[in-house]
Amino acid sequence: MNKKIFRSSMLTVFLVLVAAITLIMGVLFHFFEKRIQAELVNEAEFLAHAVENEGTGYFDNLDSMNNRITLVDQNGTVLFDSVADISTLDNHGDREEIQDAMKYGKGMSIRYSTTLTEKTVNCALRLSDGSVLRVSTEQYTVITILLGMLQPILAIMLIALILTLVLSSRVSRSIIDPINRLDLDTPENNNTYEELTPLLRKIADQKQTIENQLSDARKKQEEFNLITENMSEGFLVIDQDANLLTCNPAALKLLDITPPYDRSVLLFCRTKEFRSVISDALSGNRAENNMVREERSYSLIANPVFQEEAVLGAVIVIIDITESEKRDTLRREFTANVSHELKTPLTSISGFAELMKAGNVAKEDTIDFSKSIYDEAQRLITLVNDIIKLSELDGQSISFESEPVDLYELSEEVIGRLKNESGKRSIALNLIGGSAEIMGVRKILDEMLYNLCDNAIKYNKEGGTVDVIISQTKDSVNVMVRDTGIGIPAAHQGRVFERFYRVDKSHSKKVGGTGLGLAIVKHGAMYHHAKISMESSADTGTAISLAFPS
Ligand code: ADP
Repeated sequence: MNKKIFRSSMLTVFLVLVAAITLIMGVLFHFFEKRIQAELVNEAEFLAHAVENEGTGYFDNLDSMNNRITLVDQNGTVLFDSVADISTLDNHGDREEIQDAMKYGKGMSIRYSTTLTEKTVNCALRLSDGSVLRVSTEQYTVITILLGMLQPILAIMLIALILTLVLSSRVSRSIIDPINRLDLDTPENNNTYEELTPLLRKIADQKQTIENQLSDARKKQEEFNLITENMSEGFLVIDQDANLLTCNPAALKLLDITPPYDRSVLLFCRTKEFRSVISDALSGNRAENNMVREERSYSLIANPVFQEEAVLGAVIVIIDITESEKRDTLRREFTANVSHELKTPLTSISGFAELMKAGNVAKEDTIDFSKSIYDEAQRLITLVNDIIKLSELDGQSISFESEPVDLYELSEEVIGRLKNESGKRSIALNLIGGSAEIMGVRKILDEMLYNLCDNAIKYNKEGGTVDVIISQTKDSVNVMVRDTGIGIPAAHQGRVFERFYRVDKSHSKKVGGTGLGLAIVKHGAMYHHAKISMESSADTGTAISLAFPS
């Protein structure tokens, strides 16, 4: 802007200078031309008067003549000329000023030299005898004067331009400085040119509008971030070339996205399914698919984003379905196992009943058959009870009431109930430790202790021992059920807490196991936020510990 003002003022001054010089020259020249013509007319009149009175002899008495004097007769023949020899001069009757003088008494004319550098101004007057007296003067034309004055004119222009240079740089600075000093953060607080007030007001209005829009956008961005940051699902937005525009932290984690982020998402995940949903969405179609990546399962949903008809990009949601798939698999296995476990005793019961119904059972065998039916029915009842307990804990649909429970007292009760069973196989049941209270659900804790002690007896050796040890630390109340039984081989130790998992199925059945005892212990421990640990070997037996937070 500074330069522009400077350049404009320079140009203006230059043009004004040229125009002024031209005008002044024109006016002066015109003025002096008029003066010269007036003097020429005076001189002509004076000479005419003298010639009228004294005849052409008057010219002889003139010492010097500044201007050329010519006298022509009525026919245009030159009678006298102060400069040239009249015999060399042609007839002057065709001269404009002479013709006018003959006609009107007076004639004026101006004739330019061929180079246009000089001109001759002529004034002719008709005398009383009809002859014409002409006085001519030579004058420089404007061009000649201009050329003659070129040097001073150029000098004046140069001085004027230098002055303009200095002044206009100062002026432009003094105009620009207040504009440069404008505080656009508070446009209306500026004390500057009055003409800038509407502009400053407009800037203030627009600033306010932009601030409002920015604050709205910021709020929306924050809302969006808040929502997407807390989503466990991966959320990605891509452009039409599949370049990543934005994504939430979950997506960064799920796809192991590392900087630089503004790359094609296909570089972060190359599975066939991922590429297929992206390509479908960018073709304008909603796409869904599942993919497995690094041993985890994901559900992919991709939606195209349109602007009018054109696809601008796509939004992709990635859901980690590993756990739900695992749960589904477990549920399927559980259903299959339950059906199988139910089917076996039911088939036996049905078989025995069928034989009895057909009268194929000898009277003395009826009691044995009835006992078998009773045993199988008991097995079924135990199994169904265990399934119910497990489903109560599993779904957590039932809310249990917590109360202070002394694990020592509870163990005492459980041991009391199992005394008969252990007695049959001469297994010693010992309770070690002292009173230790936790907040918990008595019914569940009872079930857990019962199952652990029951297993310790069931899988023990004749004459073995079961110790129930209650101890307490700063952070936990611990229960350990330790036996001197058959132990659990290392390969099975990780799986015995699964539903229906048994190391030796026939042995478990023989001792009345359902395969759900330790699963109930595991879920009960989860319910009480207790940690389970196990130590087992074929030589020494098994010790399962529960650590309840105190
Ligand atoms: P079950 O009803 O068959 O006892 P559990 O879930 O209670 O089912 O136990 C699962 C399996 O773990 C059992 O079948 C058994 O093989 C093994 N097991 C559990 N407790 C013990 C133990 N104290 N000693 C040896 N094996 C055990």
